[in-house]
Amino acid sequence: MILADGIHKRFGAHEVLRGVSLTLAKGEVIAVIGPSGSGKSTFLRCLNHLETIDAGRIDIEGDTLAANDAHGRARYVADAEVRRICVRMGMVFQHFNLFPHLTVLQNVIEAPITVKGMKRDAILPKAEELLKKVGLLDKRDAYPSRLSGGQKQRVAIARALAMEPDIMLFDEPTSALDPELTGEVLRTMRQLADEHMTMLVVTHEMGFAREVASRVAFMDGGTLIESQPSADFFANPQHPRTRAFLESML
Ligand code: ADP
Ligand code: MG
Repeated sequence: MILADGIHKRFGAHEVLRGVSLTLAKGEVIAVIGPSGSGKSTFLRCLNHLETIDAGRIDIEGDTLAANDAHGRARYVADAEVRRICVRMGMVFQHFNLFPHLTVLQNVIEAPITVKGMKRDAILPKAEELLKKVGLLDKRDAYPSRLSGGQKQRVAIARALAMEPDIMLFDEPTSALDPELTGEVLRTMRQLADEHMTMLVVTHEMGFAREVASRVAFMDGGTLIESQPSADFFANPQHPRTRAFLESML
Protein backbone atom coordinates (compact mmCIF):
# COMPACT_ATOMS: atom_id res chain seq x y z
CA MET A 1 0.00 0.00 0.00
CA ILE A 2 2.93 2.29 0.76
CA LEU A 3 6.47 2.00 -0.46
CA ALA A 4 8.85 4.67 0.79
CA ASP A 5 12.43 4.29 -0.34
CA GLY A 6 15.41 6.40 0.66
CA ILE A 7 13.41 9.45 1.70
CA HIS A 8 15.52 12.54 2.31
CA LYS A 9 14.09 15.79 3.60
CA ARG A 10 15.85 18.91 4.81
CA PHE A 11 14.58 22.14 6.32
CA GLY A 12 17.31 24.63 5.42
CA ALA A 13 20.60 23.20 6.62
CA HIS A 14 18.90 20.64 8.86
CA GLU A 15 18.54 17.20 7.30
CA VAL A 16 15.49 15.85 9.09
CA LEU A 17 15.07 12.60 7.12
CA ARG A 18 18.28 10.84 6.10
CA GLY A 19 17.20 8.04 3.81
CA VAL A 20 14.10 6.53 5.42
CA SER A 21 12.65 3.39 3.82
CA LEU A 22 9.48 1.59 4.87
CA THR A 23 6.84 -0.60 3.25
CA LEU A 24 3.29 -0.95 4.53
CA ALA A 25 1.28 -3.93 3.28
CA LYS A 26 -2.50 -4.11 2.92
CA GLY A 27 -4.21 -4.58 6.28
CA GLU A 28 -0.99 -4.03 8.17
CA VAL A 29 -0.72 -1.73 11.20
CA ILE A 30 2.72 -0.27 11.73
CA ALA A 31 3.53 1.75 14.84
CA VAL A 32 6.33 4.28 14.43
CA ILE A 33 8.01 5.17 17.70
CA GLY A 34 11.03 7.25 18.61
CA PRO A 35 12.19 10.30 20.53
CA SER A 36 10.82 13.78 19.95
CA GLY A 37 12.48 15.49 16.98
CA SER A 38 13.48 12.21 15.28
CA GLY A 39 11.46 13.03 12.15
CA LYS A 40 8.35 10.89 12.68
CA SER A 41 5.83 13.63 11.88
CA THR A 42 7.86 14.86 8.93
CA PHE A 43 7.99 11.34 7.51
CA LEU A 44 4.21 10.94 7.82
CA ARG A 45 3.61 14.38 6.32
CA CYS A 46 5.86 13.54 3.37
CA LEU A 47 3.82 10.41 2.61
CA ASN A 48 0.64 12.37 1.97
CA HIS A 49 2.32 15.41 0.47
CA LEU A 50 1.90 17.84 3.34
CA GLU A 51 5.68 18.18 2.88
CA THR A 52 7.68 17.55 -0.28
CA ILE A 53 10.69 15.24 -0.24
CA ASP A 54 14.12 16.19 -1.60
CA ALA A 55 15.12 12.69 -2.67
CA GLY A 56 13.73 9.17 -2.66
CA ARG A 57 10.67 7.41 -3.92
CA ILE A 58 7.08 7.17 -2.70
CA ASP A 59 4.58 4.75 -4.24
CA ILE A 60 1.01 4.58 -2.97
CA GLU A 61 -0.93 1.46 -3.97
CA GLY A 62 1.48 0.96 -6.85
CA ASP A 63 1.17 4.52 -8.16
CA THR A 64 4.29 6.66 -8.01
CA LEU A 65 3.90 9.96 -6.18
CA ALA A 66 7.56 10.97 -6.45
CA ALA A 67 10.75 9.33 -7.67
CA ASN A 68 14.35 10.39 -8.20
CA ASP A 69 15.48 11.85 -11.51
CA ALA A 70 18.91 11.18 -13.03
CA HIS A 71 20.45 13.69 -10.58
CA GLY A 72 19.01 11.94 -7.53
CA ARG A 73 16.41 14.65 -6.88
CA ALA A 74 12.81 13.71 -6.23
CA ARG A 75 10.38 14.61 -9.01
CA TYR A 76 6.66 14.63 -8.37
CA VAL A 77 3.96 13.48 -10.76
CA ALA A 78 1.49 16.10 -12.08
CA ASP A 79 -0.66 17.96 -9.51
CA ALA A 80 -3.91 16.27 -10.53
CA GLU A 81 -2.25 12.87 -10.11
CA VAL A 82 -0.82 13.91 -6.72
CA ARG A 83 -4.34 14.83 -5.56
CA ARG A 84 -5.81 11.61 -6.95
CA ILE A 85 -3.20 9.56 -5.05
CA CYS A 86 -3.21 11.46 -1.77
CA VAL A 87 -6.99 11.45 -1.37
CA ARG A 88 -6.65 7.71 -0.66
CA MET A 89 -4.89 8.50 2.61
CA GLY A 90 -6.70 9.88 5.65
CA MET A 91 -4.74 11.66 8.33
CA VAL A 92 -5.42 12.25 12.01
CA PHE A 93 -3.33 14.88 13.80
CA GLN A 94 -2.23 15.31 17.38
CA HIS A 95 -4.26 18.53 17.72
CA PHE A 96 -7.42 17.30 15.94
CA ASN A 97 -7.53 20.22 13.45
CA LEU A 98 -11.34 20.29 13.39
CA PHE A 99 -13.04 23.30 11.80
CA PRO A 100 -14.18 25.29 14.88
CA HIS A 101 -16.98 27.11 13.04
CA LEU A 102 -18.58 23.87 11.81
CA THR A 103 -20.66 21.37 13.79
CA VAL A 104 -19.52 17.79 14.25
CA LEU A 105 -21.66 16.62 11.33
CA GLN A 106 -20.54 19.51 9.12
CA ASN A 107 -16.90 18.65 9.90
CA VAL A 108 -17.49 15.10 8.72
CA ILE A 109 -19.29 15.94 5.47
CA GLU A 110 -17.13 18.93 4.49
CA ALA A 111 -14.39 17.15 2.52
CA PRO A 112 -16.63 14.64 0.71
CA ILE A 113 -18.69 17.61 -0.53
CA THR A 114 -15.89 20.06 -1.39
CA VAL A 115 -13.17 17.63 -2.47
CA LYS A 116 -15.18 14.76 -3.92
CA GLY A 117 -18.16 16.81 -5.11
CA MET A 118 -20.65 14.57 -3.32
CA LYS A 119 -24.20 15.74 -2.66
CA ARG A 120 -25.09 16.42 0.98
CA ASP A 121 -27.94 13.88 0.85
CA ALA A 122 -25.59 11.23 -0.53
CA ILE A 123 -22.97 11.59 2.20
CA LEU A 124 -25.36 12.10 5.14
CA PRO A 125 -26.19 8.42 5.84
CA LYS A 126 -22.50 7.51 5.68
CA ALA A 127 -21.58 10.42 8.00
CA GLU A 128 -24.21 9.35 10.53
CA GLU A 129 -23.01 5.77 10.36
CA LEU A 130 -19.43 6.92 11.05
CA LEU A 131 -20.49 9.11 13.96
CA LYS A 132 -22.37 6.15 15.37
CA LYS A 133 -19.28 4.00 14.93
CA VAL A 134 -17.13 6.43 16.96
CA GLY A 135 -19.95 6.79 19.52
CA LEU A 136 -20.79 10.43 18.81
CA LEU A 137 -24.05 10.46 16.87
CA ASP A 138 -25.70 12.35 19.74
CA LYS A 139 -23.09 15.13 19.29
CA ARG A 140 -23.78 15.65 15.59
CA ASP A 141 -25.01 19.22 16.01
CA ALA A 142 -22.47 20.27 18.65
CA TYR A 143 -19.53 22.55 17.90
CA PRO A 144 -16.01 21.25 18.59
CA SER A 145 -15.52 23.72 21.48
CA ARG A 146 -18.20 21.81 23.40
CA LEU A 147 -16.39 18.47 23.09
CA SER A 148 -13.71 16.83 25.20
CA GLY A 149 -10.35 16.12 23.58
CA GLY A 150 -11.19 12.45 23.20
CA GLN A 151 -14.49 13.30 21.51
CA LYS A 152 -12.75 15.77 19.19
CA GLN A 153 -10.25 13.15 18.17
CA ARG A 154 -13.01 10.61 17.49
CA VAL A 155 -14.72 13.20 15.27
CA ALA A 156 -11.40 13.72 13.48
CA ILE A 157 -11.21 9.97 12.86
CA ALA A 158 -14.80 9.91 11.53
CA ARG A 159 -13.99 12.89 9.33
CA ALA A 160 -10.97 11.14 7.83
CA LEU A 161 -12.98 7.94 7.27
CA ALA A 162 -15.74 9.86 5.47
CA MET A 163 -13.37 10.20 2.52
CA GLU A 164 -13.23 6.38 2.34
CA PRO A 165 -9.43 6.20 2.49
CA ASP A 166 -7.52 2.99 1.82
CA ILE A 167 -4.81 4.00 4.30
CA MET A 168 -5.02 5.89 7.59
CA LEU A 169 -2.08 7.89 8.94
CA PHE A 170 -2.13 8.85 12.63
CA ASP A 171 0.34 11.35 14.11
CA GLU A 172 0.36 10.91 17.90
CA PRO A 173 -3.44 10.91 18.07
CA THR A 174 -3.53 10.62 21.86
CA SER A 175 -0.57 12.79 22.87
CA ALA A 176 -2.64 15.92 23.45
CA LEU A 177 -5.22 14.08 25.56
CA ASP A 178 -5.59 13.74 29.30
CA PRO A 179 -4.67 10.17 30.25
CA GLU A 180 -8.26 9.22 31.06
CA LEU A 181 -9.33 10.14 27.50
CA THR A 182 -6.71 8.17 25.57
CA GLY A 183 -8.57 4.86 26.01
CA GLU A 184 -11.64 5.86 24.00
CA VAL A 185 -9.48 6.98 21.06
CA LEU A 186 -7.25 3.89 21.21
CA ARG A 187 -10.36 1.69 21.26
CA THR A 188 -11.63 3.37 18.09
CA MET A 189 -8.27 2.79 16.44
CA ARG A 190 -8.18 -0.81 17.59
CA GLN A 191 -11.62 -1.33 16.09
CA LEU A 192 -10.35 0.04 12.76
CA ALA A 193 -7.39 -2.33 12.91
CA ASP A 194 -9.76 -5.23 13.61
CA GLU A 195 -11.63 -4.26 10.44
CA HIS A 196 -8.31 -4.60 8.57
CA MET A 197 -7.74 -0.94 7.86
CA THR A 198 -4.17 -0.33 6.70
CA MET A 199 -2.65 2.02 9.29
CA LEU A 200 0.59 3.85 9.99
CA VAL A 201 0.53 5.17 13.54
CA VAL A 202 3.11 7.43 15.17
CA THR A 203 2.57 6.87 18.87
CA HIS A 204 4.03 6.87 22.36
CA GLU A 205 1.44 4.30 23.45
CA MET A 206 3.59 1.21 23.90
CA GLY A 207 0.52 -0.87 24.80
CA PHE A 208 -1.06 -0.03 21.44
CA ALA A 209 2.20 -0.75 19.60
CA ARG A 210 2.55 -4.09 21.36
CA GLU A 211 -1.05 -5.27 21.13
CA VAL A 212 -2.45 -3.75 17.94
CA ALA A 213 0.48 -3.10 15.60
CA SER A 214 1.73 -5.94 13.45
CA ARG A 215 5.11 -4.25 13.15
CA VAL A 216 6.95 -1.57 15.07
CA ALA A 217 9.49 0.80 13.52
CA PHE A 218 11.90 2.84 15.60
CA MET A 219 13.15 6.19 14.32
CA ASP A 220 16.00 8.23 15.75
CA GLY A 221 17.89 11.20 14.29
CA GLY A 222 16.10 11.10 10.93
CA THR A 223 16.86 7.42 10.38
CA LEU A 224 14.67 4.36 10.66
CA ILE A 225 16.88 2.37 13.01
CA GLU A 226 14.96 -0.91 12.97
CA SER A 227 11.60 -2.42 12.21
CA GLN A 228 10.35 -5.82 13.40
CA PRO A 229 7.12 -7.72 14.02
CA SER A 230 5.86 -6.17 17.24
CA ALA A 231 6.39 -9.25 19.46
CA ASP A 232 10.02 -9.50 18.32
CA PHE A 233 10.52 -5.77 18.59
CA PHE A 234 9.68 -5.69 22.28
CA ALA A 235 11.14 -9.08 23.19
CA ASN A 236 14.37 -8.71 21.29
CA PRO A 237 15.20 -5.18 20.10
CA GLN A 238 18.31 -5.38 17.94
CA HIS A 239 19.81 -1.91 18.16
CA PRO A 240 21.31 -0.38 21.33
CA ARG A 241 19.45 2.88 20.62
CA THR A 242 16.16 1.00 20.45
CA ARG A 243 16.93 -0.70 23.75
CA ALA A 244 17.84 2.62 25.37
CA PHE A 245 14.62 4.19 24.10
CA LEU A 246 12.45 1.32 25.34
CA GLU A 247 14.13 1.47 28.74
CA SER A 248 13.43 5.21 28.89
CA MET A 249 9.73 4.50 28.27
CA LEU A 250 9.39 2.18 31.28
P1 ADP B 1 8.98 14.14 15.59
O1 ADP B 1 7.61 14.08 15.01
O2 ADP B 1 9.69 12.82 15.59
O3 ADP B 1 9.01 14.77 16.95
P2 ADP B 1 9.43 16.12 13.55
O4 ADP B 1 9.28 15.42 12.26
O5 ADP B 1 8.31 16.95 14.01
O6 ADP B 1 9.87 15.07 14.67
O7 ADP B 1 10.70 17.07 13.51
C1 ADP B 1 11.98 16.61 13.13
C2 ADP B 1 12.92 17.80 13.08
O8 ADP B 1 12.54 18.65 12.01
C3 ADP B 1 12.90 18.66 14.33
O9 ADP B 1 14.21 19.08 14.59
C4 ADP B 1 12.02 19.83 13.94
O10 ADP B 1 12.38 20.97 14.64
C5 ADP B 1 12.32 19.97 12.46
N1 ADP B 1 11.18 20.51 11.69
C6 ADP B 1 9.97 19.94 11.56
N2 ADP B 1 9.17 20.68 10.78
C7 ADP B 1 9.91 21.76 10.41
C8 ADP B 1 9.65 22.91 9.59
N3 ADP B 1 8.47 23.08 8.99
N4 ADP B 1 10.65 23.80 9.44
C9 ADP B 1 11.84 23.63 10.02
N5 ADP B 1 12.15 22.57 10.81
C10 ADP B 1 11.20 21.65 11.00
MG1 MG C 1 5.80 14.59 15.82
